[in-house]
Amino acid sequence: MNEYDSGRISDFTKAINYRKTENFKEADCFVLNTCHIREKATEKMFHEIGRIKKEYKDKKKPIVLITGCVAQAEGEIILKKSKYVDAVIGPQSYQKINEIIKKIENNNKEKIDETNFDTIKKFDTLSELENKASKVFNYITVQEGCDKFCKFCVVPYTRGVETSRPFEQIICEVKSLIKNGCKDITLLGQNVNAYNYKGKKLSDIIFELEKLDNLQRVRYTTSHPKDMTEDLILAHGRFKKLMPLIHLPVQSGSNKILDSMNRRHSVEYYLDKIKKLKKINANIEFTGDFIIGYPGETEEDFHQSINLLKKVKYIQVFSFVYSPRPGTPSSDLSLINSSIAKERLIKFQSLADKYQLDFKRKLIGKTVKVLIEKKINNQNSYFGRDEYMNSVITNKLKNENLIGKVVEVEIQKTNKQTMLGTIINNFKTEKEFAA
Ligand code: SAH
Ligand code: SF4
Repeated sequence: MNEYDSGRISDFTKAINYRKTENFKEADCFVLNTCHIREKATEKMFHEIGRIKKEYKDKKKPIVLITGCVAQAEGEIILKKSKYVDAVIGPQSYQKINEIIKKIENNNKEKIDETNFDTIKKFDTLSELENKASKVFNYITVQEGCDKFCKFCVVPYTRGVETSRPFEQIICEVKSLIKNGCKDITLLGQNVNAYNYKGKKLSDIIFELEKLDNLQRVRYTTSHPKDMTEDLILAHGRFKKLMPLIHLPVQSGSNKILDSMNRRHSVEYYLDKIKKLKKINANIEFTGDFIIGYPGETEEDFHQSINLLKKVKYIQVFSFVYSPRPGTPSSDLSLINSSIAKERLIKFQSLADKYQLDFKRKLIGKTVKVLIEKKINNQNSYFGRDEYMNSVITNKLKNENLIGKVVEVEIQKTNKQTMLGTIINNFKTEKEFAA
């Protein structure tokens, strides 16, 4: 979501003549768009501020803005701790960025703390601003915030309550992205499948997008098992553009831990959702999130997480050692021994990596449909993604422009990250593939 937000922040600031630059040494303004989900992100932000300060020591001080969830949660502390920062702007207030920059430009000496939860106003302002992204693969926010209050998680405090974006705004923004070349769209939300705008659900958005010519692929992330409703499960059997990959975090394979996390579902409930989805479409694969070493996690609880990993065989897993976050209910609980937690994480990740690689290796010698996103380093080989978001690099081709096209690629080699393959038909039209 921060990637989407960063794009929109950049769109906003064009109106006051700011342009994105790759040149770290000659910027007039820095916007550090931050994440607060784990402790490391905050550390990274302070490190980055230090880097800017050093580079601009003998130059005109650039404007430094901190946006995103760290700004929301620790705005006051940041302003006190670093005189170099001019303003903190929460994730629901970044539509005000131009006014803020203007104030600072006009020699405003006061530090600015803009951290109101104005999500609906933000959505409305966003809809008035054309999304200028001209990429094949794009994100779009459809829902923000969360009312579930898992005990470890900062999201309900930093992004605010669950808010769904107006249905028409979403369709309109997707249409404008399609005009600029978008073929693959990912609908975003902290609990994207809880989307509900005046009775319209996530499956209604997918239905509407299915009808749009030139859009090839639809995805959504992140889902909560409790919101994986029947209509959405059925959508996976109905809609051809809906990709057979679902990110369905679970956090732990132990019911005791799920309960103490306040996840509001059991392992059995989660597996039942997976079974229903597989039944509707046997090609569906899953990615997931696990927290390792949550307070109270015993060796037995950890083994249950390993067992769940073995059962689901996720094609990719994002797993992290539990990071206590200030202000969350679980931050008061006693931590388990940190070297045990790290050991468990290594064990867990090595098995998860094996499944990830196994899935890719099984594709060697097979043909996959790859949506081409760009040329590689101005050579004639291409980068694209298959239906499961696997990165694919193709062989070289002369005199073809395949960007935005779906091509069939025979996979020859793979590692954990990237598959290499040969395009076997680069002349077919998109319509032929969609059929
Ligand atoms: N809404 C999604 C997840 C959003 S947060 C869900 O309910 O599943 C993204 C991921 O960050 C979580 O799935 C979790 O695995 C991880 N995460 C969140 N808080 C964490 C913490 N305190 N320590 C470690 N990982 C955390
Ligand atoms: Fe955080 Fe997800 Fe739980 Fe909401 S449902 S509190 S976003 S982990």
